[in-house]
Amino acid sequence: MQVPFLDLKAQYKQIKSEINKAITEVLESTSFILGKPVQEFESEFAKMHDVKHCVGLSSGTDGNHIALWALGIKSGDEVIIPANTFIATAWGATLCGAKPVFVDCHPESYNIDTEKVENVINKKTKAIVAVHLYGQPADIDPLIEIAREYNIYLVEDAAQAHLAEYKGRKVGGLGICASFSFYPGKNLGAYGEAGAVTTNDDELAQKFRMIRDHGSVKKYTHVLLGHNYRMESIQGAVLKVKLKYLEKWTEERRRVASRYRELLSDLEEIKLPVEMPYAKHVYHLFVIQVNSKPDKRQEVRDKLQRFLNENGIGTGLHYPVPLHLQPCFKELGYKRGDFPVSEQLAESGLSLPIYPELTDEQIEYVAEKIREFFRRKC
Ligand SMILES: *Cc1c(COP(=O)(O)O)cnc(C)c1O
Repeated sequence: MQVPFLDLKAQYKQIKSEINKAITEVLESTSFILGKPVQEFESEFAKMHDVKHCVGLSSGTDGNHIALWALGIKSGDEVIIPANTFIATAWGATLCGAKPVFVDCHPESYNIDTEKVENVINKKTKAIVAVHLYGQPADIDPLIEIAREYNIYLVEDAAQAHLAEYKGRKVGGLGICASFSFYPGKNLGAYGEAGAVTTNDDELAQKFRMIRDHGSVKKYTHVLLGHNYRMESIQGAVLKVKLKYLEKWTEERRRVASRYRELLSDLEEIKLPVEMPYAKHVYHLFVIQVNSKPDKRQEVRDKLQRFLNENGIGTGLHYPVPLHLQPCFKELGYKRGDFPVSEQLAESGLSLPIYPELTDEQIEYVAEKIREFFRRKC
């Protein structure tokens, strides 16, 4: 049996005629940038996330950047981000000239450890970027309190967490603003690069709209410094079609996750992801950890990954090198041992296939092969 890590074709096949029609309409309109489909998508996406504004962009990375840019983050400032995330979260700070300051993740939620945030706050700290990693919202309420106390911004990176909920509140409006990614493999994926920022703040939304389009409100009048971070109409059209299915697809992801739990929860050699009591997890990723001793865990994880691959099962590593150990951040002076929880996750974590189209047989096959691996090892 084959269980690819990701299967974008399966989804395309289901919605092919709708997608092709939507793309053809854009071609016929010849309005390729920020056209009507982008506007319609923006308003529907905002509505689904109970947030006032959504501004369509060229990628989630651009969302990370524009969020901090519009808030006035600049050289000399510090921005707190989790050590375990995708690198783009950090580019938001570095592209503004600011310094990323890392904090370890929590051993159960895998999101920023809220108890460790205050230790790194100083006069230069201007923002915290809370990443809702793997599809699980970060523990937002303590972060809101910290942000209030120190008068700093709380920004969400919701690239992996479309429709996720924190204590019944949707992500996207929990902080001052949030960035989303529509990279093809994300829970809501475009057919190319795309992203967005959301906010309840009217003034900030206006700034986002200006910055993404050369700092202009009208053509050739550039009020602010800006850039070209516009969403393409074709991506808006694709996303608008897919948005109708997002709730259903999210429930399917949750079905896959709960099936994995039923089949694997008694297996002592691995730790399953924890859905925190405050969270509605949308399972962009299903990351398990091998429970082996520190000096063995990476070896066992790598062997498990190889075994699954040999049996036709695709897997991923999210992320094999935490940000504080990335060569590009060498100058920041971090070293191995600084963030043990993130380092452990990097060495022992393995992402299993999870997407709405995964069949029960495929899920059972993956679980059986994981069990077989540990049976053989003994
Ligand atoms: C995917 C991702 C991004 C970047 O999004 P792109 O659309 O690929 O630029 C940023 N942050 C996180 C956490 C992501 O997973």
